Amino acid sequence: MDLVTDLRVALGVDNVLVEPLELYLFSKDASLMRGEPHVVVFPQDTTQVAEVVRIAETHGVPIVPRGAGTGLTAGASPTVGGIVLVTTALDTIEIDADNRTAWVGAGVINLDLSRAAGPYGLYFAPDPSSQSACTVGGNVANNSGGPHCLAEGSTTSHVLGLEVVLTGGEVVILGSQAPDPPGLDLKGLIVGSEGTLGVVTKVLVRLLPIDPEVRTLLMGFAETAGATTTVSEVIASGLVPAALEIMDQRLIVAVENWLHAGLPVDAAAMLLAEVTGEAEGVDSQAEVISTIARANGATSIEVAATPEHRELLWKGRKSAFGATAQLAPDYYLHDAVVPRTRLAETMAAIYEIADRSQLTLVNVFHAGDGNLHPLIAFDASDPLVSERVYRAGEEIVAVCLRNGGALSGEHGIGVEKRDLMRAAFSELDLDAQARLKEVFDPSRVFNPTKVLPAGSRCFDYGGVRRPAADGVWV
Ligand SMILES: Cc1cc2nc3c(=O)[nH]c(=O)nc-3n(C[C@H](O)[C@H](O)[C@H](O)COP(=O)(O)OP(=O)(O)OC[C@H]3O[C@@H](n4cnc5c(N)ncnc54)[C@H](O)[C@@H]3O)c2cc1C
Repeated sequence: MDLVTDLRVALGVDNVLVEPLELYLFSKDASLMRGEPHVVVFPQDTTQVAEVVRIAETHGVPIVPRGAGTGLTAGASPTVGGIVLVTTALDTIEIDADNRTAWVGAGVINLDLSRAAGPYGLYFAPDPSSQSACTVGGNVANNSGGPHCLAEGSTTSHVLGLEVVLTGGEVVILGSQAPDPPGLDLKGLIVGSEGTLGVVTKVLVRLLPIDPEVRTLLMGFAETAGATTTVSEVIASGLVPAALEIMDQRLIVAVENWLHAGLPVDAAAMLLAEVTGEAEGVDSQAEVISTIARANGATSIEVAATPEHRELLWKGRKSAFGATAQLAPDYYLHDAVVPRTRLAETMAAIYEIADRSQLTLVNVFHAGDGNLHPLIAFDASDPLVSERVYRAGEEIVAVCLRNGGALSGEHGIGVEKRDLMRAAFSELDLDAQARLKEVFDPSRVFNPTKVLPAGSRCFDYGGVRRPAADGVWV
């Protein structure tokens, strides 16, 4: 039988999409890179995921696992075609309130998990700004962060176990409720592997108790350096706030245009800080932050007066990327991370690159982690501008690496940063990673061409099979 017939027999006709418009909708993630899927499938449970893996291996066709497609590095873009495996039907949530854990399907939307845990006084700490859409499986695959990961750590700190479909359709459970299970930490290998080693079908997550009190501070600064220095000094003081987020002026204006939350539109930068815990503690922590901010030239300091006001401020922060549509139809985003103490000089260098390249650059980022999100707003239909955008992007990454940073703070490597891996890793490092991939994926079906640069060991892209004109994979 051909590939599509095999998939229809295994999953049912309704769960296999082949129409051109349907395929187009799954041809890219939230990055700019588009591919051409051969077929899109919606397995309904783990057994069906295992069937898809077996069928893919039989036909020698790549599988691109996909949650919500909010990734920003083309990880879920089918750049060499193949089967896009969408996990959204894997949406079960089983909460164990006594143990503060939950087994959740990989396709569960991040925010839905916290909503389900709320009645038990619990929540899931990783909160990417895309949390109303992105899936827990996508969070695991990218080891995602979020504004509130500063104190609690990124996704990896909240994953106790995984159910994963490996080569041959073998289903394994890695990790467990035990805090430090014996044996090699194979769960740790899967977290952050971007769908290149297998398909995650279920996740055993750690849930945290909701703090009784929260204070959210909105601070405006006449100079961006005042905001970044405040961040460094707050951390140096020993405080670890729940969140420390910076947004620059151009973006403050774009967000305030529709949010109307009283953001400081005259400020060069705003700092959104949050502290959580018992009432007495949060008030004194808020005071420490205010004092440091004042000493660094804060021009306004406001504490959210009501839960609704707090929610509005976070809505503004988490919708900031979308607000850039007021500046240009497309954006290109990096998430390089630098040591906090080098934020000010790195930002100055990044703005200089944008000015020199005559590009519009804005910044909204997880300042507490040193995780910059320089975003270039532009019109991708103009090839000359696009060329300048990509060149500026490379320069930005180079500056971050020079300033002691890393290629990615949370968005992953995907295709977008793949060829920059050589700037961050030695040949030996890359070879070790490629050998690992070989062990997990001897048939080379799991998300080929992602993460590892061409030429790393057997990952020569010439080896990836493609469909011929008649649809047969060659
Ligand atoms: C507006 C916006 C804001 C964002 N904010 C943040 C942020 O604050 N922090 C942050 O870290 N990221 C952020 N992101 C990036 C993105 O939302 C995260 O990386 C998210 O975790 C991706 O989840 P997803 O379900 O959309 O995954 P997808 O985009 O569908 O996939 C991402 C990667 O995971 C793989 N994958 C997905 N599901 C599985 C699975 N079940 N098994 C194996 N591999 C799988 C895919 O193959 C791909 O490589 C943001 C994106 C947008 C558009």
